Amino acid sequence: MKIIAIESHVCHARMRNWIFIKVVTDQDGLFGWGEATLEWHTRSIVGAIDDLAELLIGQDPTRIEYLWQMMYRQHFWHGNGIVRSTAIAGIDIALWDILGKSLGVPCSKLWGGPVRDHIRTYCHLGGGKMEDFYETASEDANRFADLALQAVEDGFTAFKSMAVPPTLPLEGRKPIRTAELCVGAMRNAVGDSIDIMVDCHARPSPAMGMQFAKALEPYGLYFLEEPCWPESVEGLAAINSSVATPIATGERVTNLAAFRDLFAARACEICQLDITHCGGLSEARRIAALAEAYRISLAPHNPQGPVSTAASLEFGFSQPSYIICETVHNDVPWRQDIVEEGFITERKGRIVRPNTRPGLGIKINEAELKKHPFQQELPQRVFYTDGSIGDW
Ligand SMILES: [Mg+2]
Repeated sequence: MKIIAIESHVCHARMRNWIFIKVVTDQDGLFGWGEATLEWHTRSIVGAIDDLAELLIGQDPTRIEYLWQMMYRQHFWHGNGIVRSTAIAGIDIALWDILGKSLGVPCSKLWGGPVRDHIRTYCHLGGGKMEDFYETASEDANRFADLALQAVEDGFTAFKSMAVPPTLPLEGRKPIRTAELCVGAMRNAVGDSIDIMVDCHARPSPAMGMQFAKALEPYGLYFLEEPCWPESVEGLAAINSSVATPIATGERVTNLAAFRDLFAARACEICQLDITHCGGLSEARRIAALAEAYRISLAPHNPQGPVSTAASLEFGFSQPSYIICETVHNDVPWRQDIVEEGFITERKGRIVRPNTRPGLGIKINEAELKKHPFQQELPQRVFYTDGSIGDW
């Protein structure tokens, strides 16, 4: 079997362009799908895919580790910058899809699964609708409570919110109190049986992240995500050791060595590796093995498109420490027109039963996808009160 083409299919989904990678073989009708979505860097990824394709055309697609090493180590520069690690991921995921299809088994079976009967999922407030999730002001606590109730009515037992306002490296009591009121309103609305997550989006400084973490500790968050920059491993570790709330991070970490440093410092309890950014399922499995040694949970980052979700679920059915799958369902109204999924989501509890189809179990509707060609992603910008640049 040989690889004869590697194609990037770009689908504009408002805030992101989904980048689906199709690896085509010389076997009749056998191809695999991957995803390499990287918001605001779509053209860079498409170019990187073309560069990597030069290494892979004519190669056997079932030699996945060999090809991964080729993509990562050849071309002189290691493939751990965000553009290359994402492009490698897109191709790697498609190679696993091909292997599963060629053997007639779901990907999770290739890795010894399934290890569980179902996977729990969580949603973003508003189901991932950009205005609800990213643009609801944390001062509007009632709106957060309404959106939280909506998530529960939609069947979810867990949801994520962005209830922490952007702050300068140091601010006083007001933003802390704002976050407290916001999380308190959500907790009052949904009670103690629903799990609430708060994503700080790595905006706070370690000093502000520590204050947010301590202020929100009484509300029993399921996890507090990225309370400071991922580069501040010591800051994350200090926060993680200072509160009972489990700290989650890892969505911007792109290689095994960086995860080693994160885990060795005990900078998190939940590893949010992004399968589409960390080098794909091959590297994700190495990261998971490392996390297992530290008894750190896995909850992969997944706000992207439907191939990313299928990859996360196949991975989850093979990983004992996988705790929950991030999902969005309301980012664009035509999401389900693009994909036919092999797994079943039960509305009550929003749990997912295993895919029984080969590979990732998905079919992408290329005609539907073409209805949404590339457009520049909508900007999301943060400026502080004094006009200085903030982190989105
Ligand atoms: Mg996040």
